[in-house]
Amino acid sequence: MSGSEFQLINHYFSRLGVDRTDVLLGVGDDCALLQVPEGQVLAVSIDTLVEGVHFFPGVDPESLGHKALAVNLSDLAAMGADPAWITLALTLPRVDEQWLAAFSSGFAALAKRFQLQLVGGDTTRGPLTISVQVHGFVASGKALRRDRAKPGDLIYVSGTLGDAGLALLAQKGAYDPGADLAALQIRLDRPEPRIGTSQSVRDLATGAIDISDGLLADLGHICEQSRVGAVINLSNIPLSDPVRVYVEKQQDWTIPLSAGDDYELCLIVPARHQAEIEARAQGLDVGLSLIGQIEVGETICCLDENGTQIQIGSGGYDHFPSS
Ligand code: ADP
Ligand code: MG
Repeated sequence: MSGSEFQLINHYFSRLGVDRTDVLLGVGDDCALLQVPEGQVLAVSIDTLVEGVHFFPGVDPESLGHKALAVNLSDLAAMGADPAWITLALTLPRVDEQWLAAFSSGFAALAKRFQLQLVGGDTTRGPLTISVQVHGFVASGKALRRDRAKPGDLIYVSGTLGDAGLALLAQKGAYDPGADLAALQIRLDRPEPRIGTSQSVRDLATGAIDISDGLLADLGHICEQSRVGAVINLSNIPLSDPVRVYVEKQQDWTIPLSAGDDYELCLIVPARHQAEIEARAQGLDVGLSLIGQIEVGETICCLDENGTQIQIGSGGYDHFPSS
């Protein structure tokens, strides 16, 4: 980057988000200096979006700024952590001021909403690639880990599943959702990290994962790491109207169960907390649905409304498929 290019980037990224008192030194030095509150541990996660792999070339930069941060915040929500700091590594083919202004505005709006501060990053020239690292705090011993699920625990999911997957299917021209396309597209382009949901119920849960690769794949990670199985009741899977219509018309459950990009939470909750979590869910702006439970075993079994087992294609997006 030339000096003037760096100044331009500095203009957009030197003071992004809120000013936090736990940031002793932010953007501008060799390192940021950060203070983790006493009794809390640092939860750290990074995600990379590559043009042509994770998003289409020419996608709206404002939405891209939102999504790049949202998918990371979703990981903090799934860990039961409170968002605090961000670092951002940007690889840009060229310095395009309009693009930078729009990208940083989508990114900054979400950062402000969740009280985050951008504390550093890196800027290089190359194929458009965005790496965002988030840092959050979680009380020591209270993180929602994937390896703590026990037979008998209840499985809840937030919001509705399959909306982003249906938008992607429509984008590929494989299905026409009619007038619902715009609402579905928002679910794909501007996922809403379920931070508030996580903060409201995390003390009742022992584990969680965010659904980025599809419910079966992501719940599968919990089952694998906890060495358990699960039973899912398909009639309890929360569906928006357009996804319900799709499932009924096409007799196809892969969109709500195996398509990714919804970024809803899948929570593991000991059965003794059922009444409490359902009472708290009443006050949330996004619903929580009880979809099944953890069992002894190592498979996820899906039952229809008659209790008959249904086979679903596994799905989930794998960047390095082994076959
Ligand atoms: P260094 O040579 O020490 O890596 P840089 O020139 O890459 O320093 O960055 C200078 C300062 O600007 C550092 O504090 C760095 O964290 C920050 N920075 C660089 N790029 C970004 C970015 N895209 N977003 C936020 N901060 C950035
Ligand atoms: Mg650098």
